[in-house]
Amino acid sequence: MVKKKAEKILQILKENFSLPKWAKSSRDPFETLIVTIISQNTASKNTAKAFENLSNRFKITPEVLANAETSEIEECLKVAGLFRNKARTIKQVSQIIHEKFGGNLSSVLSLPFEKARKTLMEFPGVGPKTADVVLLFASEKPTIPVDTHVNRVAKRLGLAPKTGDYETVRTSLQRLYPSKDYLAVHILLIALGRKYCRARNPLCRECPLNVVCPSKR
Ligand code: SF4
Repeated sequence: MVKKKAEKILQILKENFSLPKWAKSSRDPFETLIVTIISQNTASKNTAKAFENLSNRFKITPEVLANAETSEIEECLKVAGLFRNKARTIKQVSQIIHEKFGGNLSSVLSLPFEKARKTLMEFPGVGPKTADVVLLFASEKPTIPVDTHVNRVAKRLGLAPKTGDYETVRTSLQRLYPSKDYLAVHILLIALGRKYCRARNPLCRECPLNVVCPSKR
């Protein structure tokens, strides 16, 4: 029953939102990791600007960023929040990848899913969401990253328990959908959260999912 409803929800989402052109799992793993670190608690526009600043100043490779001055990385990231912490994290992560993994994340991403995820989460500043974004977008690994939108929308739609933590929401969604749809589920739940299912004052009347949503107001 819940699976049928989950299918219906995805079908309605696909009819109402298009997947962006970049939504394919072939991004550079290291760039994906750096962008995701920058994006933590930061609006997407500011994340894009900070990454652009960083790319204009440095070649985005572990070796270059491992040897960059932290103050120069900070300068590039000022438009994003927590830029001092993020600059330090980016330098530390780059040093680890450069020194321990031969400057290449592919040795990590070629590990079995759980091992790859655990290894990524041992990097400083990399929690489950950042690890899952890298695994999904840069390695086509079967996982659904749960950001603030995915968490809120999945719970309101009854796709995950209301009090579920990160892992509960992730595994609840993954049980409901085939792995080929994980990328679409992640992207389309975020799109719904941004346009209709906002944290405050969700636009239930206009929302295309109000016919199936148990939290409709
Ligand atoms: S009907 Fe309202 S609560 Fe339900 S998904 Fe749409 S906006 Fe969110």
